Amino acid sequence: MLEYDVVIVGGGLVGGSLACALRDTGLAILVVDAAPASAPDHPNPDHPSYDERVIALSLGSQRIFDGIGIWPQMAADAEPIRHVHVSDRGHFGFAHLDAEDEGVDALGYVTPARAIGRGIEAGLAGADNIELLRPARLVGLHAGARGWQLEVAMNGDSRLLEARLLLAADGGDSAVRRRLGLGVHERTYGYDAIISTVTAERPDVGTAFERFTDSGPLAMLPMTGGRYSVVWTARDSDTADILAMDDKGFVHRLQQRFGYRLGRLGRPGRRIAYPLRLVLAKQLTQPRLALLGNAAHTLHPVAGQGFNLGLRDVALLAELLAEAQRTGQDPGGNSVVNAYHKRRRPDQYSAALFTDCLARLFVNPFAPVRIARNLGMLGIDLLPTARHLLARRFMGTSGRLTRLQRGLPLG
Ligand SMILES: Cc1cc2nc3c(=O)[nH]c(=O)nc-3n(C[C@H](O)[C@H](O)[C@H](O)COP(=O)(O)OP(=O)(O)OC[C@H]3O[C@@H](n4cnc5c(N)ncnc54)[C@H](O)[C@@H]3O)c2cc1C
Repeated sequence: MLEYDVVIVGGGLVGGSLACALRDTGLAILVVDAAPASAPDHPNPDHPSYDERVIALSLGSQRIFDGIGIWPQMAADAEPIRHVHVSDRGHFGFAHLDAEDEGVDALGYVTPARAIGRGIEAGLAGADNIELLRPARLVGLHAGARGWQLEVAMNGDSRLLEARLLLAADGGDSAVRRRLGLGVHERTYGYDAIISTVTAERPDVGTAFERFTDSGPLAMLPMTGGRYSVVWTARDSDTADILAMDDKGFVHRLQQRFGYRLGRLGRPGRRIAYPLRLVLAKQLTQPRLALLGNAAHTLHPVAGQGFNLGLRDVALLAELLAEAQRTGQDPGGNSVVNAYHKRRRPDQYSAALFTDCLARLFVNPFAPVRIARNLGMLGIDLLPTARHLLARRFMGTSGRLTRLQRGLPLG
């Protein structure tokens, strides 16, 4: 049986980033991913994680990628967010966040998931402590005396492996979670996020818009070349109609919802719908096991929190594992697993609560709720302390920071 210090099941945005962070640590790492391999400079177009999504990376996430050393491979496709404009369509409330007020160049960077995938693939290429099995699937999992024993199917064959630490980064429907019977708190919203891109007649360079409407939030995120990434939340009963519209009809509906602040919108790209739900694993860890990324927490995409949160899981795990390796500790030992649980759970709960409240509060038509949320937004806009707090959540730079979160290599 082959033995590894760390086996990561799921080599997508989160699992792949963690593997990159752990290269050069000397730990023997295996990544098992269900998607086929990609060329370093050209991520597989069918990859379920590096897909058409465009991610609002927080400043904290950009620093993590910088610390890992893979930011240069994505930077050319990343558009800085210097202002955020939040509003409630048809009502009086609005709030602004500004990079200058926070003393930073950018609050974050709008980056296509494919560009992040390119950075990850480049980071994995040539790392001699990392082995990749893909396309491969986990088909068996048992606790052994010294770690987890895994059976993995690949090319019609099956392999037996042992992991001193098993990390589940296999997405919202995590096979590891299911096989171990780990429960989740789950809420389906009855809404889908429909994504696309458009070009704007009068782009407002560096400004991201989050507009709450009575049928859910609409985000317009600035991309390179004057394009905008559209994240349109719609009731799931309306999704088929929106996907079936011709381009003219789609742009017309979008323009009705967003208005003409950016002039005429045009040249819509492909439309893809994602069902929205909140999934929070009831248990984040077990002996020699930890969940991270969407396997631990799948959030509503409002305010762009999900991947940023997953990357903070990566930053801490990487630091704990590098330290364990440096000091000769067991990478799957209780000190690593318990520290991960203790330090990541509060952030995960608070991000889940924040996005869940936003997603539900802003579709509530009850007049007192509507007035209260608009007053709340104005309050944020007028009170610098409240604005800084919100900006820090958006930037992902609060709390006790790891080396990677400060943009420093693991060392
Ligand atoms: C419309 C939309 C917009 C979003 N925008 C933002 C944003 O602006 N900012 C932000 O921070 N977040 C955003 N998110 C959230 C973000 O996309 C996710 O948090 C992120 O993709 C999670 O990455 P992950 O690697 O944990 O999971 P996934 O991306 O789901 O990857 C899971 C990986 O596991 C592999 N896998 C699955 N099953 C198995 C198995 N059985 N065996 C082996 N491998 C397996 C898959 O092949 C895949 O590579 C958005 C989400 C949506 C839906």
